[in-house]
Amino acid sequence: MNSSKRILIVEDETAIAEPLVYVLAREGYAATHVTLGRDGLTAHATAPFDLVVLDVGLPDASGFDVLRSLRGDAEGSVPVLFLTARGDEIDRVLGLELGADDYVVKPFSPREVAARIKAILRRHGGTAVAAPTQSAAPQLWKLDAEATRIRYHGVPLDLTRYEYRLLALLVAHPGRIHAREDIMARVWHDAPDTADRTIDAHVKTLRAKLRQIDAAGDPIRTHRGLGYSAENA
Ligand code: CA
Repeated sequence: MNSSKRILIVEDETAIAEPLVYVLAREGYAATHVTLGRDGLTAHATAPFDLVVLDVGLPDASGFDVLRSLRGDAEGSVPVLFLTARGDEIDRVLGLELGADDYVVKPFSPREVAARIKAILRRHGGTAVAAPTQSAAPQLWKLDAEATRIRYHGVPLDLTRYEYRLLALLVAHPGRIHAREDIMARVWHDAPDTADRTIDAHVKTLRAKLRQIDAAGDPIRTHRGLGYSAENA
């Protein structure tokens, strides 16, 4: 059971937070809801939570600022799941080096968020405290959230919006296989009529751009029938 897991939800829209609190409670989590970033930080500093669900667009601070403050605390390793609304927010989440664990795009199903939370807590609940993926990765990739830019071997890549989103998704968790449906939902969420082969076309152009920097490297792996992943080295 999840009975002892405490989840903090920082979201100013009650209509979004309440169904989530309800679903999480039914799943056995102890969910707390606050509407302001500073209230979230105070709550977590008072009694640390097992996971924080963080809205990017808060009235008193951006979710990115709140995450930065969280990461600066003694309990800074708390897993964070972002709630995002717009494309530019998503691009920043994907490029975020502060190390959010996952994100969902509004509007979302509270059940899906609950499933994501379960998966994150499972990853973090291993025998050892998991090091953040970002710091474990060698500097083959470098994500720059502010500039929505990715460097490969230190060289900034000239990417289209969707190439950036796709590559940022892959390199945010090197070695993790991303299923095609997952890539479609996260990268082309604002273009639902996109054909499946669009992913392959973008992988192809990405590989061509990466080869211009390192002709011998092939850092995007195809997992037949499964999806794609980015290599660490
Ligand atoms: Ca908001």
